[in-house]
Amino acid sequence: MSNTLLRGEIVYFIDDPAQKGEAAHIHHADGIIWIKDGKIHQCGDAATILPTLPSNHPMTHYPHHLILPGFIDAHVHYPQCDIIASHGEQLLTWLNKYTFPTEAKFTDYSHAEQVAAFFFTQALRNGTTSLASFCTSAPASVTAFFDLAQSHNMRVIGGKVMMDRHAPDYLRDETEQSYDDSAALIEKYHEKWRLHYGVTPRFAPTSTPRQMQLAGKLFQAYPGVYLQSHVAENLDEVTWVRELYPTARSYLDVYEEYGQLGRRSIMAHGIWLDETDRARLAATGTALAFCPTSNMFIGSGLFDLKAAQQHGIQVAMATDVGGGTSFSLLQTLAAGYNVLQLNNHQSFTAFQGFYQATLGAARALALADKIGSFTTGCEADLVVLDYQATPLLERRLQTCASLAERLFALMILGDDRAVAATWIMGRQVYARDISCLEN
Ligand SMILES: [Zn+2]
Repeated sequence: MSNTLLRGEIVYFIDDPAQKGEAAHIHHADGIIWIKDGKIHQCGDAATILPTLPSNHPMTHYPHHLILPGFIDAHVHYPQCDIIASHGEQLLTWLNKYTFPTEAKFTDYSHAEQVAAFFFTQALRNGTTSLASFCTSAPASVTAFFDLAQSHNMRVIGGKVMMDRHAPDYLRDETEQSYDDSAALIEKYHEKWRLHYGVTPRFAPTSTPRQMQLAGKLFQAYPGVYLQSHVAENLDEVTWVRELYPTARSYLDVYEEYGQLGRRSIMAHGIWLDETDRARLAATGTALAFCPTSNMFIGSGLFDLKAAQQHGIQVAMATDVGGGTSFSLLQTLAAGYNVLQLNNHQSFTAFQGFYQATLGAARALALADKIGSFTTGCEADLVVLDYQATPLLERRLQTCASLAERLFALMILGDDRAVAATWIMGRQVYARDISCLEN
């Protein structure tokens, strides 16, 4: 049995700060994480755990650092690495001008593998240890994604985009074939190693009603399978969906009509929703992915976290790269803070932010028994943040009087420079200062 020991300041969540306040997090100013066989065996104060440890056991000590559960990115498009920071469009023109041409290249496994390798390296250097990603409509894009995720031993969700209309011929799939291809990928990868399959209709406009029906059928037919899509991101999109599905009560209702809402269904954005939509999201256990850098960059609108919380909707943070502008969940939290400030001055605390990027996301993705926390039995995925990462961060933190203030400064000023190390299943897979990845 392998034992790994980490020492440093530790914070993790056991509940939602929006409901439980200060009691929602556990803080050890000088703590130890004891990992056995890749899982959390014990996490507590150093003074308590040190006397119980095997004598002279090696320990990795992180003074001036903060150890948190690894970040979870609930919605991202790995094939869009190469169009991040593309200028000047809103959703529907963005797709045609940037997304579709770049996604066309993923019929080639070696291209997909090369982009996936870059993508996972970016995730780890940003402290992201789990994520839910779209692939493209090409099965090779999914194979490359899962092969790379497995090589990093990461817990991920991914799936083949289903898209049989309103896309260029070179990307559109065939309706029945998209079902068969998705089913074959589910059989091959779902719940193998740490991999989960997500049925992935891109969004209601790019699937025929028949394909929407088949996507719902896949979601219902395979136990534990996820479904990921987009909803109510942009006003032109909402209008288009109304034209395409005239009998639906709302955009969200289209997904419900085709059996695509429920636990393990992840809908990105959810900006232009009404109260009935929010009630349906909560009642069905469907998660919303809050993608603030994307929502600002593509000019989509301001997410309403308070309304989601009032309805009891599960919310997870997400980068939505390449519409999003950063792989960093810290930068994503900073953008989330800005979005919520602009939306009726909603106060997004650091505790709320770090919860939404760790345990809150794990709960939204129905993975809280495995990731997102340091409770005994959880998989030991973690990120080590450096309080002295930049001169500005170091200076600002000297004037912080509380943990809440330090966490807030980290989420506003932090980015990949603040990530000193990333660990997966009790093994260090990224260390900033030696600038390398162990494989
Ligand atoms: Zn997206």
